[in-house]
Amino acid sequence: MRAVKLGFCIFIMMAIGAALMAQKPHNVPGADERYKVDILVVVAHPDDEIYFSAYILRAMQEEHKRVAVIYATRGDSGGNGEGRERGPALADARETEARDACARLGITKVWFLNAVDTAQQNPLVSLARWGHGENLERLVALVRLTRPEILLTHLPAVTIGEDHGDHSAAGVLATEAFDLAANPLAFPEQLSGEMHEYEAALSNLRPWQPSKLYFTSDSSDRHRFDGSGPRYSVWGLSPAEKKPYWRLALESALMHRTQFPSEVKAALLMNDAEMEKFFTGPASEWWPEPLTLIFGKSVVGGSASEDVFAHVNGRSELAQDNHANPQPQSSGVHIELGGPWGFLAQFGRAHGLPDGLMPQSPEIAVKSGTRLVIPLVVKHDPGTNVTIHLAVSAPEGWIVKNGESDFPLPAAEAETTIALELETPAQPRPGIEELVLRGEIEGKPLGEVKMRIQVNSGALPQ
Ligand SMILES: [Zn+2]
Repeated sequence: MRAVKLGFCIFIMMAIGAALMAQKPHNVPGADERYKVDILVVVAHPDDEIYFSAYILRAMQEEHKRVAVIYATRGDSGGNGEGRERGPALADARETEARDACARLGITKVWFLNAVDTAQQNPLVSLARWGHGENLERLVALVRLTRPEILLTHLPAVTIGEDHGDHSAAGVLATEAFDLAANPLAFPEQLSGEMHEYEAALSNLRPWQPSKLYFTSDSSDRHRFDGSGPRYSVWGLSPAEKKPYWRLALESALMHRTQFPSEVKAALLMNDAEMEKFFTGPASEWWPEPLTLIFGKSVVGGSASEDVFAHVNGRSELAQDNHANPQPQSSGVHIELGGPWGFLAQFGRAHGLPDGLMPQSPEIAVKSGTRLVIPLVVKHDPGTNVTIHLAVSAPEGWIVKNGESDFPLPAAEAETTIALELETPAQPRPGIEELVLRGEIEGKPLGEVKMRIQVNSGALPQ
């Protein structure tokens, strides 16, 4: 009888427990920890991870940081040094190479955006061909998925030596994603929570603010960015593999067989001393000592030259960066550069990047015997009838094809763009030349724009 009573009590308690369970609110699952990383690398092409590989190895092996890499493109228009038979399948080959190279670094989280490899110099052309909005949306989703503290990407600037528009375009996307991922109003459908319908279109991500943003640049002026960020030795010794980081970075880079076939073959024949000279010597384009990361911005304070992870506290979802530097204001008639130079200068200020990162004078490297178009923006007060005269001072050998003339500025507009078209000298020139573009009204100087130009035997088209 006692046993029957006890059984009845247990039954009642279980029933109450089940009723309470049924009323418990259903929690939306938290962030997916499988994707969490510390460092997110955002680069344009398979092989661009090489800019960061020596640092990444150090961060992974000495500090146990988790790293993911995002390539904007699959490198479909790049060269194929291995042989033309793989031409149509080059993007597939390069994706495999990139995954192999990352695996050699110890990275298994690798994504590709949907951007088209666009081999020319203008990041605006790259962004137009890529579908800027679609790929920014994808990148913001991946920042929210991987929740990195640190973003590493290309410097969004046009410099002599850094001549690929896709690189600065990838830097634009990554900087925008750094500033947008924490904003719940940006791509809100990514933050819709767990849904039982349309789950393939909606996602359960959370806003995320990375702590710091760093850049790399291919500028041919090796010392331009000295002091602009932390420096790391490429000769640091891997505790796991007992080899210097540059050597491990090389083993990873050699996976890009379609891109560096001659280096792959040459490296196999070199002894250690030859290898060191070729890959790490002061003249090397691979891993010259030391590796400098260019500081872009931080939402957790600290100075540019401090260690990448200084002040990073893992609570960066609480911070949100809205810092912008003021845009210069002008009145009356004023001339400035448009196109990628004008955009990137404005972009750097809008996203609060340090002033010193942009070249003091706009610059570009161009091919000899080709065409250079320089868009000039004339800002003027609407409602007034003004004619501006544009003049160009160029070194011998340059030919002004178009734009050196009088321009009546339309009274209905506040801004008029004039494209100056020049033919570059027939032969490459040593050193850097300067073009001066002047505006004047009725003989009175209005201002000038100076451009530094290197005329090379080869350069990507403008
Ligand atoms: Zn590249």
